[in-house]
Amino acid sequence: MLRSLNDAVLATDNRGVVRYLNPAAAHLLQCSEAEALGVPLSHVLRSRPESGSFPLRQAAPPKTWSQWPRALKRRDGGELPIEECTVSLRGADDEELGAVWVFRDATARRQLELERARLLEREHAALAEAQVQRERMESLFLQAPVAIAVFRGPDHVCELLNPQACALLEVDAHAIGKPLRDLRPAMDPGMLRLLDDVYRDGKPFSGREVPLASASPYVTPALSRQQRFHDFSWQPWCDARGVVQGVMAVAVEVTGLVVARRAAEDLARDLREVVQSRDEFLSIASHELRTPITSVQLQLQFLLRGAPAMGSEATASLVRRRVESTLRSVAQLHQLVATLLDVSRIRAGRLDLHRERVDLSSLTQEMVSRVQEDAAGARCPVRLVVSEPLVGHWDRVRLEQVITNLLSNAFKYGAQQPVDVHVTREEGYARLSVKDHGIGIAPEDHARIFQRFERAVSQRHYGGFGLGLWIVRQIVEALQGDIRVESAPHAGSNFIVRLPLQDSTTAADAAL
Ligand code: ADP
Repeated sequence: MLRSLNDAVLATDNRGVVRYLNPAAAHLLQCSEAEALGVPLSHVLRSRPESGSFPLRQAAPPKTWSQWPRALKRRDGGELPIEECTVSLRGADDEELGAVWVFRDATARRQLELERARLLEREHAALAEAQVQRERMESLFLQAPVAIAVFRGPDHVCELLNPQACALLEVDAHAIGKPLRDLRPAMDPGMLRLLDDVYRDGKPFSGREVPLASASPYVTPALSRQQRFHDFSWQPWCDARGVVQGVMAVAVEVTGLVVARRAAEDLARDLREVVQSRDEFLSIASHELRTPITSVQLQLQFLLRGAPAMGSEATASLVRRRVESTLRSVAQLHQLVATLLDVSRIRAGRLDLHRERVDLSSLTQEMVSRVQEDAAGARCPVRLVVSEPLVGHWDRVRLEQVITNLLSNAFKYGAQQPVDVHVTREEGYARLSVKDHGIGIAPEDHARIFQRFERAVSQRHYGGFGLGLWIVRQIVEALQGDIRVESAPHAGSNFIVRLPLQDSTTAADAAL
């Protein structure tokens, strides 16, 4: 029976000499039964027996299997983990007869133990990591600069509240476990209904800049309770199966933003009012200025006509020269006031057009001859090329203004070079081009100069308001035309205006 056992069995006498071993023991000890029999066990083991189990002479009364495998030194130098138990054999008078050592290969068990230890270690590490994560989440939850609350069930029982949420709801930690309705009986019933909807339908809801009464310390203290605003969102909180368990609420204080935006809106409104009153003032002032200027002009003209009757020829000529020079200044003043009046009209959307049949070719001829004196003064002779009559339904006075403006700019910036004026037809448009050979304009300024008060020259070298081209563009566009410039620095400028020959406004206009 002992021989057929899988466990190794080895018996020694009371001197430690091997008296019996079964094949399993011989196999594990890597020796034959004959080799071991009659040999002290310590020799068979070829190592000093470790304390506790050997010498078998001190074997204790029957032992259970060892808890932790011991390593058995083998002949091949390797180690074999074994589990074992030893039993001492005693005679009738309790004298020591020997000992029995039962042992078995514990490699598999040892591996299992090692694996278990590794798993345990891993589990501990994972638990520690989870703890760190939990603490991190908790501190985030507590310190988040937003209010976070979780409500459970149809009664919205408070499950979690961070301090900001407590402040917002004006409750303390005792609120946990209580329904929201009980905590805030005065809460807006509309809000509670929305909360019910989110719980019932499982659809999130968010509100922007909602005025919530709050004692939150996270709001600007100077504001009254009614003036606090929050962006908030209610998210359904579902379990792993997707069943709604409650609602998670997040509220962010946006009072500062709302207040800043309202201040900006107030400022913008004030600015609009200021600009409006400035425009009104401009309009009234230019209207009022026109009357005395016209009267001064008339008086001066009257004086000019009466000059020959003033004493000597020398006196008359002196008076004439002075009056003529004053008349020029007054004409400039008149022009300035007219410009200001145009600006206020355009700004107020009151640029009324008086459309009539106008031939751009003959109007340009007329205007060119009218500015001959200015052209001579600027040393910019005008070379006019007109091909054919080009008739459209336009505002004659406004077109005169467009042509004069472009011509006077050409004289002003034309560097005493000739100015070429061409009036031609171009695919349903009458095309007017005023081209000088003066200082030119950098490409990056081409669009800008058509804006109000925009200039591409220094005030020191060339006076002006930067309004002329803006007014010209407003007029041209009001007539459904367009204007552009082709120019480069020191290469002159060519201003090209196109006006539709077929008036595309109303039938009444077309009948004009
Ligand atoms: P202002 O001549 O009073 O400055 P404008 O609105 O008529 O105002 O013109 C705007 C700017 O466009 C001018 O300041 C100038 O820089 C540029 N400009 C206009 N016409 C010419 C031109 N013929 N040649 C060069 N620059 C020009």
